[in-house]
Amino acid sequence: MEDTIAAIATAYGEGGIGIIRLSGEEAGNILDKIFVPKYFNEEKLIANKRLYYGHIIDTSNNQVIDEVFAVFMKAPATYTREDVAEIYCHGSIVAMRKTLALTLSNGARLAEKGEFTKRAFFNGRLDLSQAEAVIDIVRAKTDKSFDVAFSQMEGALSERVNKIRKVMMDLLVNITVNLDYPDEDIEVITYQNLRESLSKISDMIEKLLATAGTGRIIREGLNVAIIGKPNVGKSSLMNTLLKESRAIVTEIPGTTRDTIEELLSIKDIPVKLIDTAGIRETEDAIEKIGIERSKETFNNADLIILILDGSNPLTEEDTMIMDIIGTRRSIVLINKIDLGTHIDEEIILKYLPEAKIIKTAIKQELGIDELEQKIVDMIYGGEVRQEESLLVTNVRHMELLERAGKSVKDAYMMAENLEALDFIEVDVRRSWELLGEIIGESVTEDIIDQVFERFCLGK
Ligand code: GDP
Repeated sequence: MEDTIAAIATAYGEGGIGIIRLSGEEAGNILDKIFVPKYFNEEKLIANKRLYYGHIIDTSNNQVIDEVFAVFMKAPATYTREDVAEIYCHGSIVAMRKTLALTLSNGARLAEKGEFTKRAFFNGRLDLSQAEAVIDIVRAKTDKSFDVAFSQMEGALSERVNKIRKVMMDLLVNITVNLDYPDEDIEVITYQNLRESLSKISDMIEKLLATAGTGRIIREGLNVAIIGKPNVGKSSLMNTLLKESRAIVTEIPGTTRDTIEELLSIKDIPVKLIDTAGIRETEDAIEKIGIERSKETFNNADLIILILDGSNPLTEEDTMIMDIIGTRRSIVLINKIDLGTHIDEEIILKYLPEAKIIKTAIKQELGIDELEQKIVDMIYGGEVRQEESLLVTNVRHMELLERAGKSVKDAYMMAENLEALDFIEVDVRRSWELLGEIIGESVTEDIIDQVFERFCLGK
């Protein structure tokens, strides 16, 4: 028998209400022991899925802990597929802690991180990719990242993976029949058929994989470094973007004196803006540390926004920065065009042939729309449409898709070289298993533990 787990399910802090959640066979009994309803129904029993008003009472000393609502939910129609009880306390840390302690002294065990969702997974309510989406929902910072996580939780990714696996299974069955009963009257598989099937499967995997770049950014945010010599308008840009877009209020660990980080949303894409201290040669040792750190941030950036002062010709410092940017993905702003333009775009393109150039007057908020649109276009570039909500956002899924895709390609090469069917079968089966790991089939205990370690307590 699984033990009964308990945890504070709401955020740990002050709030309107605070919820204690219990799951497991003893959930109902524990609730009975600590909760006294004010008004009972005729049977004097707590009915399934009815909200009761009453008090949490410590019967060891008859002390009233809090005034609450409580509900009991009978398995299997619950989040965990087990019996569940929820107690709605006042949103006070004291009330929550005391109520939680009381559940523990009456037989519950403190839940581990993500244990409620883990049980939902083990009891078949969610597959692994759906369970992973639950934590992404909780952590989502923009409407778009929420939508993508939500559709993954509803099974969009699982459905697609299952569809690919179904095509693979049909092929595997066909290969096996040909291997095991070559003399029977069956559809003979030809190398031509094999290649067609494998190339179809490979396309399906590639199509899904193509969403992964955008998916990662939607989930984790785009790292954008703003760079340029002093006084070109870096802080002004940061402030303008922050004002224009809804800022996401989050503490970002690792913010240093040398770089300023802000998390915001540009047209629904989470963006982490980093204003670097400026990369330039220096004699000052302390400043050097700051600059080294800026270079590091800059190396981790997905996109670099270089700001140039358009009211003056390029300086050596500008060209030095352009040299460092090299082939990284970049947008160049020729700023302060209200004061005239003294910079030749041709020279910029000599240093940064791939760069997108935009003329701006940040102080007057000129060119900001164009900048935002360029950022969005970059992210949804290629095949991914902005309204698409099936995106591969998770690195674990991406790696499995890559490996599965490679196995299918290997099988295709073998089919092309007319190699033996049983060799080809091995690679197709391997690929089928790898895709199974995405949804939690044929997945090891280790991986399951790693997935749920990322959860918060009470989820
Ligand atoms: P940073 O050192 O790169 O962060 O530059 P700031 O954002 O502090 O800007 C330096 C100065 O340039 C400030 O006085 C800004 O008001 C000014 N500035 C920024 N953008 C523009 C612009 O588009 N036109 C003009 N005329 N001044 C600007």
